[in-house]
Amino acid sequence: MFRLIQLYASDDHALVDVDTDGYASELAAWAEFYATPISFFGVGRFDAEGRLVDITVDPVCTAAGKSGLCRGATAVVDTDEYHPLCGDCGAWHDAISLRELAKRLGVPVHPARRAAPAHPQNGGDPTRSLSHRIARELATNVADAAWRRHVCRELTMIPRAVNGLFIGVGALSNRQVLDLFPALQQLAGELPAGIHADLRRAAGKPRSPAGLAALRLGLGASCH
Ligand SMILES: [Zn+2]
Repeated sequence: MFRLIQLYASDDHALVDVDTDGYASELAAWAEFYATPISFFGVGRFDAEGRLVDITVDPVCTAAGKSGLCRGATAVVDTDEYHPLCGDCGAWHDAISLRELAKRLGVPVHPARRAAPAHPQNGGDPTRSLSHRIARELATNVADAAWRRHVCRELTMIPRAVNGLFIGVGALSNRQVLDLFPALQQLAGELPAGIHADLRRAAGKPRSPAGLAALRLGLGASCH
């Protein structure tokens, strides 16, 4: 028996709510999942005694991107509203891995099996390669005005690569943050306006990679 599952946040716990309609097959449950206007978290499988055995979630990230839905592979869930998200979109939220969520719920949580969307090769994906480059080069190059200019120009064209900035800034030691703070602030001031605004908002979520990066870039609430 399969049922649609809703999750609600309650302090640091997730409360499971179960829709009353049951489905004989997982496929039928997913058909309803996509057909209903209410957004559910996923599909729960129940044993003969009515106990929840496991939960499958949408394998595709449905966060709104600049050009429609993201469509990345689900890897995490945000802990405010429990939306399944890909790693890139999750970086803007207080998010936990599906494994971590499974631990909280006491049942396995995994992405539904579906034909994976065709992904271009790693090297052929401009978002990935720019993101990796920023993450790799940030610590050694952020003080270089030409590097910052180049990165900001690229980020204007490929804003999703900002994830590399979170990784690079997040990987700095506290000592490096102190030494590089003037350059980090410079970089913050030079970022494309959209990313700058998003980061300023993200500063309110210091446990998210985006929020941590925002604070380290001097975009905390007290700095206007
Ligand atoms: Zn996504």
